[in-house]
Amino acid sequence: RYNQAKGWHGARVESRANFPLDPAAAVLHYAQEIFEGLKAYKRDDGGVNLFRPDANARRFHDSAERMAMAPLPEDVFIEAVEQLVRIDRAWIPGGEGSLYLRPFMIASEIFLGVKPSAEYIFSVIASPVGSYFKGGPAPVSIWVSENYTRAAIGGTGAVKCGGNYAASLRAQAEAIQHGCDQVVFLDAAEHRWVEELGGMNVFFVMNDGSVVTPPLAGTILPGITRASIIKLATENGLNVVERPYSFEEWQNDATSGKLREAFACGTAAVVAAIGTVRHAGGEFVIGNAGTGMETEKLRNQLTGIQRGTVADSHGWVKDVTLA
Ligand code: PLP
Repeated sequence: RYNQAKGWHGARVESRANFPLDPAAAVLHYAQEIFEGLKAYKRDDGGVNLFRPDANARRFHDSAERMAMAPLPEDVFIEAVEQLVRIDRAWIPGGEGSLYLRPFMIASEIFLGVKPSAEYIFSVIASPVGSYFKGGPAPVSIWVSENYTRAAIGGTGAVKCGGNYAASLRAQAEAIQHGCDQVVFLDAAEHRWVEELGGMNVFFVMNDGSVVTPPLAGTILPGITRASIIKLATENGLNVVERPYSFEEWQNDATSGKLREAFACGTAAVVAAIGTVRHAGGEFVIGNAGTGMETEKLRNQLTGIQRGTVADSHGWVKDVTLA
């Protein structure tokens, strides 16, 4: 918990239980809430890995600052996650599964006024999870939202606050109505530039060996998977270009064959090929609507690093096997 007199205090690991929250707690009215998502992986030798928890700690800190919340020291974030993983170690599934960790912070001051809360609760919960997409790593279908946008310049798109996701639900429901797995958002100003999915960043693999991904210009989440993919793809000899990519270009490149592969990436699904893209005016497929070679390679490299079967030459993995 945080208050102004004591700062952050009272850390402990305890059984999952309800929070007693006053109905006037600030989070219930003005949505001062941020969260993170990361996974603990069981290795073949029985050990346990976290993947870049320091990057989640940093992003959580950045999210708190944007939302005018009390930043949590990054070492406290990491320690909290590690302690929970150690205690819940028996709940980490093997195989394709993992233990999903959800650190979050809520504004708990009892006060009905629009101002930053003076009190916060930070908590981490965990749950065993299987594969994110039903049916495993099959290519996903994407609905292009032309009515709803996710984030504008100056807004909160680059941080992980609950409000971003509340605002995306209507568009995601529209995707499902149109038979698609996920929604992709275009920019708020021109409705022209591809931004990201509801919960994943997006990459485009071209036939000239270049890979395009939308730039971090303040409206998309700086994904930790995205940053890792940029690094791995570059090391694989691909020319990664962070630049605005329009929906029009996407359609043209898919039709002409210039675009070989497209994929979405994030902690939940790691890397998922995009097969079909549907929009109000029709639909198109990418490549042969399957999982492309580079997509598959990057997924195998990244999941291998996370699970300890591929060498971690970047120091991304944190071994949290019980000491
Ligand atoms: N974009 C959004 C909107 C997300 O919610 C996420 C989720 O985690 C990502 C991208 C991918 O980020 P990361 O790779 O850090 O999981």
